[in-house]
Amino acid sequence: MRIFNTLTRRKEEFKPIEEGKVRMYVCGPTVYNLIHIGNARPMIFFDTVRRYFEYKNYEVNYVSNFTDVDDKIIKAANAEGVESSVISERYIEECKKDMEGMGIKPATKNPKATEEIDGMIRMIQTLIDKGFAYEVNGTVYYRVRKFVGYGKLSGKNLDDLRSGNRTLLVTGEEDKDDPMDFVLWKPKKEGEPFWPSPWGDGRPGWHIECSVMSQKYLGETIDIHGGGEDLVFPHHENEIAQSEAASGHPFAHYWMHNAFLNIDNRKMSKSLGNFFTVRDISKRYDLQVLRFFMLSAHYRSPLNFSDELMAAAKSGLERIVNCAVALRERAADAAPAASDELKAALDGYREKFEAAMDDDFNTADAISAVFELVKYANTCLAGGCGKDEAAAMLELLETLCGVLGVNTEVKNDSLDAEVEALIEERQAARKEKNWAKADEIRDKLTAMGIVLEDTREGVKWKRA
Ligand code: AMP
Ligand code: ZN
Repeated sequence: MRIFNTLTRRKEEFKPIEEGKVRMYVCGPTVYNLIHIGNARPMIFFDTVRRYFEYKNYEVNYVSNFTDVDDKIIKAANAEGVESSVISERYIEECKKDMEGMGIKPATKNPKATEEIDGMIRMIQTLIDKGFAYEVNGTVYYRVRKFVGYGKLSGKNLDDLRSGNRTLLVTGEEDKDDPMDFVLWKPKKEGEPFWPSPWGDGRPGWHIECSVMSQKYLGETIDIHGGGEDLVFPHHENEIAQSEAASGHPFAHYWMHNAFLNIDNRKMSKSLGNFFTVRDISKRYDLQVLRFFMLSAHYRSPLNFSDELMAAAKSGLERIVNCAVALRERAADAAPAASDELKAALDGYREKFEAAMDDDFNTADAISAVFELVKYANTCLAGGCGKDEAAAMLELLETLCGVLGVNTEVKNDSLDAEVEALIEERQAARKEKNWAKADEIRDKLTAMGIVLEDTREGVKWKRA
C-alpha cells in the first residue's frame, strides 16, 4: 500500500508502527456554523481511508477533534447573546447528523478542545521547561527558531518566511521575540471563555489542541495525520514543532492532505461566502450522492463543485444501486457460489479495485472497477445467470461499495419518488404535445435503468 507523504513529497510504502494497527488523526471542524461541503471533503475521504484499512484487516484507531473554542465561535455566541458552549454544542450535534447522512463512521474518539485544557497546559509547560516557549504578559509563544526542523512539512524556509511576513505581527502580539513565533496560550479578554493557568486566566491557541489530543488518544508517534491542504502551513507545521519538541519523538510518519473542493475554481470557504452547507445539499440530493461525487476524483486533485458533476454522480450511483437491487432480486437469499469463470472475473474486479486503492487511495479508479463489475453483472443478469451466481456478484459489489462507504441498499423510497415524479412530468409533457420533452424524460429514465410500459391503467414502470 502506497501513500503520498506530504513530508517527503513522494509515495511511500505504508509500514505501520504496530503490526496490524493504524493510528490516525484528522483535524476536524471549528464548530460555529453548519459545515460546508468543503469541510466534508476530508471527512469523506479520510473515512474511506479508514474503511480501506479495515477492509485490509487493520484495527484503526481514528481520532478527529472538534475545535470548540475559537474567535469565530465567540463571535457567534456574542451575536446571539449566549455562551460559547451553546454554539459549539449545537453545531457539534448538527455536524454529527451531517456526518451520518454522508455515511461517515463515528470516530473512535471525537475529543473536544475545551475538555482537554489540562493536557494543553501541561504540554505548554513542558515546552517552556525545554526552552521552546516563553511567556510575555500572560501570553505564551512558541520559539520557532529553537526547533531545528521548522519548515520541513511545508518546505518553507524560516528566513524567507520572516522577510515576507512582517505583517504577521498581529496586533497584541508585539512582544514576540520573532515574527514567526506563534501563540500557545492567550490571556482572557472581556466576554470570552477562559481557564486558569500558570500564566494567568486565558485560553489555548489553536495549534496546541491537536498536538495534545493526538498524543493523549494515539500516543507520541502516530501513523497518519490528515487534513485539508490549507492546514499544511502553519497548522501542521506548528503541530510538528510542538509535538516533537515536547516528546523528542517524530510526531506522524505519514502526512496526508486533500486538495480543495472548489466552486468556480476558487476554494469553497466561509470567509469567501461561496459555500453550500452539507445541509443545503441534503435538500437537493441524497448525501450518498455527495459522498460518491467526492470520491469520483483523486483526493489530491482539486475538485470543482457543479450541478453537472453532481448529476453525473447521481446517475452513476443509481446505476450501482439498480444493479444491486436486481442482483438481490435474482439471488433471493441464495448462498454465493461461482463457476471458475465467474470467480476469475470477480477476482479480476477485486484486484483492480485494490490496486487502485493501494496506489495512494485512488478512489476514482476504484470506482471504475466497480462500474466494470456492474456492467459485467448486468450482462450476466440479462443472460439469465443463476441465483447463487447473482449472490456471488452481489457479495463483491456490496463489499467494494462498503469500502467506499456507499450504501447499495439506498432507500428505494426516494428513488421511487423520483421515478414517479419524472413519469408525471412526462405525462404532462405528452398532454401538452411536447414530444421532445416527453422523449427526453423517457431517455433519462432509460439511463436510470427504468423501463416504461403504457398500459390501460396508466404508465407502469420497472427496473431493467
Ligand atoms: P475548518 O473548520 O476551516 O478548520 O476546516 C476543517 C477541515 O476542512 C480542515 O481539514 C480543512 O482543511 C478542510 N477544508 C476547509 N475548506 C475546504 C475546502 N474548500 N476543500 C477541502 N477541504 C477543506
Ligand atoms: Zn489540527
